[in-house]
Amino acid sequence: MKVLSVASEVYPLIKTGGLADVTGALPAALSTHGVDMRVLLPGYQQVMAKLRNPVPLIKFDDLLGVSASILESTIDGVDYLILDAPELFDREGGPYTNTGNADHPDNWLRFAALCRAAANIAEGVLEDWTPDIVHAHDWQAGLTPVYMMQGPAASTPTVVTIHNIAFQGQFGPDIFPKLDLPQSVFSMEGVEYYGDVSFLKGGLRTATAITTVSPTYAQEIRTAAFGMGLDGLINERADSLHGIVNGIDTDVWDPASDKIIAANYSLSKPKKRQVNRKALADYFKFEDTDKPVFTVVSRLTWQKGIDVLTELADDIVAMGGRLAVLGSGDQALEAALLSAAERHPGDIGLVIGYNEALSHLMQAGGDVILVPSRFEPCGLTQLYGLRYGNVPVVARTGGLADTIIDANEAAIAAQVATGFQFYPVSPDALREALRRTVRAFAEPKVWERLQNRGMKADVSWDRSALRYASLYAELLKSKSEKT
Ligand code: ADP
Repeated sequence: MKVLSVASEVYPLIKTGGLADVTGALPAALSTHGVDMRVLLPGYQQVMAKLRNPVPLIKFDDLLGVSASILESTIDGVDYLILDAPELFDREGGPYTNTGNADHPDNWLRFAALCRAAANIAEGVLEDWTPDIVHAHDWQAGLTPVYMMQGPAASTPTVVTIHNIAFQGQFGPDIFPKLDLPQSVFSMEGVEYYGDVSFLKGGLRTATAITTVSPTYAQEIRTAAFGMGLDGLINERADSLHGIVNGIDTDVWDPASDKIIAANYSLSKPKKRQVNRKALADYFKFEDTDKPVFTVVSRLTWQKGIDVLTELADDIVAMGGRLAVLGSGDQALEAALLSAAERHPGDIGLVIGYNEALSHLMQAGGDVILVPSRFEPCGLTQLYGLRYGNVPVVARTGGLADTIIDANEAAIAAQVATGFQFYPVSPDALREALRRTVRAFAEPKVWERLQNRGMKADVSWDRSALRYASLYAELLKSKSEKT
């Protein structure tokens, strides 16, 4: 089964968040289920620099008005198709923003071109590879099924995965004429959304199937509180909606072999974890290391509940804990955390920025990974925490609710608990969760059990990859029944 995956970021070529981890892990996870997945992504500067011997496959003189080509490159067994369009992607900054952190003004064109190229591939422009199924991720790939509907690939099944419904790719109606779509697509049945163009809405309207990244989030986005205006449409399409929880790449994230942490450890050799604990304390200039170290690796935003966390920074120290934060985001939140770190040198540390290596050490050397998100489609850092013995304390929402078992008395007695949940995302509820956590930390046996149980949890892609493969198979079956 040949599947084209279309995404705006893919680890290890380019990453700003969990989307890249997922699109990066799927090809290998699915290959054991007979899926030949190729990944189409933009040729950003960072991506072009990592390609090995790229082979040009096809040239477009006019892809929505720009010249572009598709290059093929295989890296670590994954086949990438790169949309090389220098006018759109050869620029400084991140995948979505310039060096000043502002969105590129032509993001609509950059990602429409990605979707148009994906549809061309679905229509068979590559000489020896045409996908049976196209799997588009998030709004940046959302127009893919819309374009496919207009041409010879209209009957090829499509899947759109929502990694975060808060990001919808909404632009003014003036862009519509430049998308090279028939006027009829600017309608309720197409991309039109309250007079604007919405890439995600177009994708959700037209895809054969919709998935999102946890069963709880699949339910939540059917409600006004979480659906961000698309709950009506999601409800209409509920029969085609599937919640499939993310796994993690257990080769990249394996404390027994991880090359970027201070020392390797495992369930059978847990003592070496202390070396990482010490290294983390040194990194953050924490004096002694017997206090519980709470870690946060996150975008610093309202979604992630960082404002609530910031309010509790002093409480964490008062409870005898330490706080180490790695992240970047809203300037006001960065400033508030910085001021907490200044108030508590030696107890609160903050690294602003993106640092993949440090994110591994935080999981290997922390005691707790805190994830106080207001909404969280799946969340990955709690899964890394489980695997690394960094006990998760999470808000009971989305994928956090699906992947962490709360350490209430019954769960502790039954030895199934893996972390702590709290709800709602308020200072009081978080404070109470932190108190429970500090109490459990003070009981080495209870703590060790929590860590061990988490480290034994299956956070791999095995089960979820099978679910994607079964979904693809179902879609192909119903296609062949129709024809
Ligand atoms: P989201 O995609 O909403 O940001 P996820 O939990 O799904 O949240 O994924 C976040 C991913 O990005 C994880 O792999 C996490 O380790 C990583 N990450 C987030 N912030 C940083 C940072 N400042 N430095 C390094 N890695 C980070």
